[in-house]
Formats: sequence, structure tokens, C-alpha cells
Amino acid sequence: MGRLQLNDLTKVFESGANDIVAVNELNIDIRDGEFLVLVGPSGCGKSTTLRCIAGLERTTSGQILLDDRDITHRKPKERNMAMVFQNYALYPHMSVRKNIGYGLKITSDLDKDEINQRVEQTAELLEIKELLDKEPGDLSGGQQQRVALGRAIIREPEVFLMDEPLSNLDAKLRTTMRTEIQQLQQDMDITTIYVTHDQTEAMTMGDRIAILDDGELQQIGEPLECYHRPVNQFVAGFIGSPSMNFLSVRQSDDQLEHDEFTYDISTETQEALTEASRNLTLGIRPEHIQLVGGDEANAVPTTIQVVEPMGEVTYAYFEVGGQNYTASIDGERRIESGDEVHVVFPEEKIHLFDGRNGAAVK
Ligand code: ATP
Repeated sequence: MGRLQLNDLTKVFESGANDIVAVNELNIDIRDGEFLVLVGPSGCGKSTTLRCIAGLERTTSGQILLDDRDITHRKPKERNMAMVFQNYALYPHMSVRKNIGYGLKITSDLDKDEINQRVEQTAELLEIKELLDKEPGDLSGGQQQRVALGRAIIREPEVFLMDEPLSNLDAKLRTTMRTEIQQLQQDMDITTIYVTHDQTEAMTMGDRIAILDDGELQQIGEPLECYHRPVNQFVAGFIGSPSMNFLSVRQSDDQLEHDEFTYDISTETQEALTEASRNLTLGIRPEHIQLVGGDEANAVPTTIQVVEPMGEVTYAYFEVGGQNYTASIDGERRIESGDEVHVVFPEEKIHLFDGRNGAAVK
């Protein structure tokens, strides 16, 4: 079993007069067998959280429970977790066979033959049997990462901890390994916590994703839930590529006023805004912006500045009132830079965030 609970987990690094709160009262309940991705920008506290879970960092306050057992102060080797690092951390002068078997050799009382058998099984699972007698220096980045995974898998831990394991691989290999890790995790059914700063990795891999900013949990949920129903402007801007477009507006009864245009809103939207500040941020995802004829309601005139055909979609960049926007439109539609168009942000697709604190109000 491997249910992992973080209760008010806090880590403060003491650094002279200015203590750094790297992780601030983090509460996460990770189900047995779940694949949870911790995601957020550089410095948000992802690695520190993972290192506290692994026991590599002393927790300042709060608790870490593994199947209801308090492991907050246990030594790393007493936690039955295996960690995979970004730089693989392989022993350079040991063969792949020894690298994979080493952890078992020092932590279990299995004899040499038993360990060798487990190494062979693991290598088979990862399709690296032919590499067993090579040294890490003779392997490609992808092969080294497989060996690092093998070293974690062989121990049959209750929890896998992975810290940006794919960030040293090129884009194509990253995509392949992403699928392989997911498949492996599903087959082994081992609770996994995966750290990345890459929102695409988070969206595609996680059963759930936990989005952190500045040491604090912003939202935890299934990837599409976070995408479609972000709880605040930070999550809305972080999840999704290209990013959500934002513009400042002010509510006045049944309209949102922008410096360049006014936008009529329904009574339903007005009701959603009763408790909110008059100053709001309107958010609209690139794929929800429509290019329309000028006579539609809430249509805003603009000129397309740049187009980027991506195949299935085309990114169109334009400006309204000195602010840049990105629209993602059907790749089959002909559009060129210099085209004069009207854009619409359909009301059912817009997000509205409270100007005071960025909380989502619609
Ligand atoms: P990255 O993606 O860049 O690795 P991260 O989200 O993993 O970032 P952490 O490495 O957990 O972030 O760092 C969180 C905060 O704690 C940062 O402000 C960082 O500078 C600080 N920090 C991390 N380790 C230490 C340390 N050993 N001593 C002092 N401050 C630290």
C-alpha cells in the first residue's frame, strides 16, 4: 500500500535575517497507486517538498504519513521509497547490472543470485537487457534514464519519487519516455509523485496535478479540471499553452468596460459578480477567441500582426489597446498578417478573476 498524506508540511530554510519559506503548510492526500504531479515555476518549492517526503530534507513542521504511519522523522532508507533524479545519479564506474542491483545489495538480505535474477527481470521490463554489461558513460541519455528507473523499480518501493526525470532528454525522447513512465507506473500500480516545471508533462501524465506557487498549494485536481476550472489567475495562466490571455476590465452593471471597448454581460454573469470587486481580470484561452464579421455582439476590431501555422492550428497574434493577444484558430482557415478582423471572446468561455486577489469569480 502507499497512501501518502502531507499535513501542513512546512519547510523553512534559515538564511540569516531572511528565512526562506520554501514550502508553506502544504496539505495533500495522495491515494494508493495514484500518479500525482507537482508542478509550478522555478523556486515554487516542488523539489523541497519531494526531498522532505524522501527524508533528504528535515521538515520544519507538519507531518508526513505513509499508510497512516508517521514517517516525518524517519531516515530515508526507512521510508521504502525510491527516488529518480534529473541527473540520473548513476555510479559511473559500475556496470549497468551493478548500478541496478546496488540498492538491493545494501538494503536487502537477498543473495547474489537472487539479486542478479531481479536485475535481469527489471532489465527485461525496461528493455535494456543488452546494456547490462556496459557502463553509464557508454549509454545515451535515454538509456541512462532507463537504468535510473531500473534502480528505483527493482526495490519494489511503496512510493516512487521522481524529480524532473526527463528534463535532460531531447524533446522527442521526452515524449516517448513520458508514455513509458506512465505505462510502467500503471502496470506496477505504485504511488508516484512526479515533479516538473513543464505544464505539458503535468497535464499529460498526472492522474491529478498539484500546482504550487511560492511554496503554497494553489489547486489540486484532475488535469482537465484545473484547465477548465482554474481557481485563480495564477493557475489559469500557468496551465495551458499558449497561455490564457488576460485583460483588465471594470464592471458597470450589465457591461464590462475596457479602455478600447465595452462588453455586454448576461444577468447570470452579473449575479456571479455580486460579491466581486468592480475591477476584474478577464481571461480567455487562445482556442476560444473567435474571428467573426463585424456585426456580431461584443466584436472588437483589430489587425492580425503575425501568424504561425502549426499544422492543425494556426496561432494568430494581434493587439488591442497596446496589449498583445494570441488566438489559436483552425489550421485550415486562411489568414495572413495584415488582415483586418473582428475578434469575439464568447461569454460562456470567459473567465473572470477578482482584481483584489486573483480568485476566480466566473
Ligand atoms: P526548481 O524547479 O528551480 O528546482 P523548485 O520549485 O523545485 O525549483 P525548490 O528547489 O524547492 O524549488 O526551492 C524552493 C525555495 O527554497 C527557493 O526559494 C530556493 O531558493 C529555496 N531553497 C531550496 N533549497 C535551499 C537550501 N538548501 N538553502 C536555502 N534555500 C533553499
